[in-house]
Amino acid sequence: MPDPSTTGSDPRPSPPPPEATPPKPWRTEGLPPPPSSKTNKPRWSLFAMAAIGYAVVFAILTVQDRLSAPEVVPYTEFRQQVVGRNVAEVFSRGDSIQGVLKKAVPVPGETGQSYERFTTERPTFASDDLLTELADGGAQVRATPLVQERGILANLLISVAPFLLLIGFYVWMFRRQQSMMGGGILGSAPRKPVDRDTIRVTFDDVAGIDEVEHEINEIVDFLKDPGKYRRLGARAPKGVLLAGAPGTGKTLLARATAGEANVPFFSASASEFIEMIVGVGASRVRELFAEARKVAPAIIFIDEIDTIGRARGGARAFGGHDEREQTLNQILTEMDGFSGQEGVVVLAATNRADVLDPALLRPGRFDRQIVVHAPDQKGRLAILKVHTRKVPLAAGTDLAQLASSTPGMTGADLANLVNEAALLAARLGQDSVTQRNLLDALEKVQLGTARSLVMPEAERKRTAYHEAGHALLGMLMPGADPVRKVSIVPRGRALGVTLSTPDTDRYGYDANYLRGRIVGALGGMAAEQEVFGVITSGAESDLEQVTRVARAMVGRWGMSNRVGPLSVLPTEGDPRMAGISESLLTAVDEEVRRITDECYAEARRLLREHRPQLDAIVRELLARESLDEPEIYAAAGIPRREPAPV
Ligand code: ADP
Ligand code: ZN
Ligand code: MG
Repeated sequence: MPDPSTTGSDPRPSPPPPEATPPKPWRTEGLPPPPSSKTNKPRWSLFAMAAIGYAVVFAILTVQDRLSAPEVVPYTEFRQQVVGRNVAEVFSRGDSIQGVLKKAVPVPGETGQSYERFTTERPTFASDDLLTELADGGAQVRATPLVQERGILANLLISVAPFLLLIGFYVWMFRRQQSMMGGGILGSAPRKPVDRDTIRVTFDDVAGIDEVEHEINEIVDFLKDPGKYRRLGARAPKGVLLAGAPGTGKTLLARATAGEANVPFFSASASEFIEMIVGVGASRVRELFAEARKVAPAIIFIDEIDTIGRARGGARAFGGHDEREQTLNQILTEMDGFSGQEGVVVLAATNRADVLDPALLRPGRFDRQIVVHAPDQKGRLAILKVHTRKVPLAAGTDLAQLASSTPGMTGADLANLVNEAALLAARLGQDSVTQRNLLDALEKVQLGTARSLVMPEAERKRTAYHEAGHALLGMLMPGADPVRKVSIVPRGRALGVTLSTPDTDRYGYDANYLRGRIVGALGGMAAEQEVFGVITSGAESDLEQVTRVARAMVGRWGMSNRVGPLSVLPTEGDPRMAGISESLLTAVDEEVRRITDECYAEARRLLREHRPQLDAIVRELLARESLDEPEIYAAAGIPRREPAPV
């Protein structure tokens, strides 16, 4: 279905850079803390603290020893004190003598220092009667040492501590290295680090898809209290398929479901399971389910299930065929294998529900499908409100107006829009986001970033005619979407842009509208040929769009009498496989050709007849580069049609 966005040299969003495949196949959220994860993970700082602590204790002990150490004196000096009756106490072990003087005396040979406590060595050849002399001097001979020696244990500790510290450090380093290498063994890829601390999303963060939330509430209810269902013998939901366009919030919804039920959430993209080596994917799936069962009730989320769940024989498979199939089979086996009583619910997301292998959708597997649509106007407003919760909005911002001018945008587009506006406000040094910022961001999101490129005058003029051609036909064709913006500022690969969006959300398209779209899209090329008599390469993306719409009209939507109400062109794959005959395909091609030829002729006719209006728009464009909706209609002298009543 054609998207109601731009005609003209459509700016294509450049594809996102290829993501490096993470070495580990799944992420978790809200997992209960694994036991003993604290004790076997000492940190750097822990070692530093231990080392510093040791150094301090060691230093204190050493200083203390120094300060309290008795003076070592010669034996002769000691004898003098004995003779002088100045010795208060002594203790002796072998020939070593410790003691205390009655009053301090100067240290021999050192001026200004005195001592009271002392040690000395008694020479073995001494033949004095020390005991008698001491007793005469009134000295006490003690049985215990004067200076308390440190215990063996303390000494041991002091000398061994550094080694313990070192060993601990090595063990830690070793472990860390091992975990950084990630085990590295095929098939047993280790878990992602558990981010228990992340703030979990809940249904408060999901907006604008209330009907879907409602459907998924049953699962939340089940996960909160699996026992209730078990007692009633109810078969629990096993698999739910979320189908919807990219950016509509499928991943968000799955996370919110787990957050709302407050159960662990395991998520992986289907492609992440697959490696070039056959068998790896299956073993990873087995492991993932085993982990989830351990902490059940839990949710397993498999994103992009279509990459492995495509119907067999379908076009384009990812990875080796065997590997894909084995991985898929393992998922199905796991789902068949658990009774549902365990409380593991598998959510899967896809934007191609139509290509899925029917085996996936059988009862007991993904037997529930929830279709997630792009939000309507009310939904867009709600989503904008969610995403501006943390953004300071200036007075006068009108989110409702923004919601009404963003038909077709998904939740992801709107989140991006708000973010762009906030970035813009920050860059301008504002302290709140204004409506102007939001509208500028919208322009940037819809049209792409302007490039500062100096165009040659002739090129500018041709671009102006090209865009004016789109715009004028968009205004002339009855029932076409109003033209919102025309610009000849180069953006991305496009030299100019014409933007048309509907006044209200469109859900279906009639043949007249689609023909109008084709005429409008051919307007650029037609104008260039009318005015300059040449065809340039600038119409490439216009022609792609034209071809797409025309082929769908004829081959899928039954809008051609000659082909009739047949579905000839499948959304994917070769129609011949579906038994479509060559002659029917030829008829489709001819009808497509007829429609586009007619539309092109009409485009040229209209432009020829309205040449003065075309020239007027071009003049304005060359002068102002970008025209807003009222300016465009004014330049062409065409009254703006009132929005059709809904
Ligand atoms: P999908 O998985 O369908 O491609 P995501 O869930 O990844 O889409 O959506 C991407 C982002 O878009 C989300 O993280 C969220 O910020 C925003 N978003 C999408 N849909 C919604 C929604 N309904 N409500 C709020 N935010 C949304
Ligand atoms: Zn164009
Ligand atoms: Mg997603």
